[in-house]
Amino acid sequence: MRTFLLIPVFLSAAGQARAQAVMDALNATAWVQTSVEYRAGALQAWRSARLSLDRALKDKRWTAALEQTADARRLPPAIIVDIDETVLDNSPGQARFLLDSNGRYSQKLWEEWTSESCAEPVPGAKEFLAAAAARGVTVFYISNRGTQEAAATRRNLVEKGFPVRETTAGGLGDAVLLRGERPEWTSDKSSRRAAVAARYRVLMLCGDDLNDFFPARLKPGERMSRARAYDSWWGERWIVLPNPMYGSWEDALYEFDRTLAPAEIQQRKLKALRTR
Ligand SMILES: [Mg+2]
Repeated sequence: MRTFLLIPVFLSAAGQARAQAVMDALNATAWVQTSVEYRAGALQAWRSARLSLDRALKDKRWTAALEQTADARRLPPAIIVDIDETVLDNSPGQARFLLDSNGRYSQKLWEEWTSESCAEPVPGAKEFLAAAAARGVTVFYISNRGTQEAAATRRNLVEKGFPVRETTAGGLGDAVLLRGERPEWTSDKSSRRAAVAARYRVLMLCGDDLNDFFPARLKPGERMSRARAYDSWWGERWIVLPNPMYGSWEDALYEFDRTLAPAEIQQRKLKALRTR
């Protein structure tokens, strides 16, 4: 394995790895905030969703949720979306980590950011979800934001014009389902998808992370092979948004071990590269 200095300055190996992690985050956040390519990718995703909405509504056997195991033909239609980097753009929060926390994730800074309820919609998200709601589709927001962020999150969605139903079928409460709002609602989103699928026919899943589609705390190869069975669902039943800033794709490269030093994480990523 070739090794090389990514940041050839007079820093310790750990210092270089930390500096490189900051540069990675800078690049990803700059891409989201400034590139036409990011905006176009997001618009393209939501346009795909709009193009398959008619068929999804008409075909009563159509479902997008693997948790939908019972006959759903008579159930009302729903769409499940993730929140962060799917319908709300948190790149300013990422920029705060870069500028105020030396590139490190900070729970305090994150909660300051979400408490301001000022995240802008991801391009195209609001328009698609409004169009779906106008067709009688209930939009469910399944997010791993915590209960302490609940009020500010709902306020952000409502103030930016997203359709947020206050009552839904079968005693589920409102249409925002956050981690920990019920004991069984863990960070694995499948119990919440199952709760929706028991009451609604799920037309689409929309997210920026593989966990928004199925439980994906798996090795990179297993993530890829399991997802391949659903290649024909992307852009129709499963709508994926670009997010280069963070995600389980990255954690999978180092077995979800966030205690590892940045230098070790960088070595694992280098080992994962192919040169042909
Ligand atoms: Mg997300």
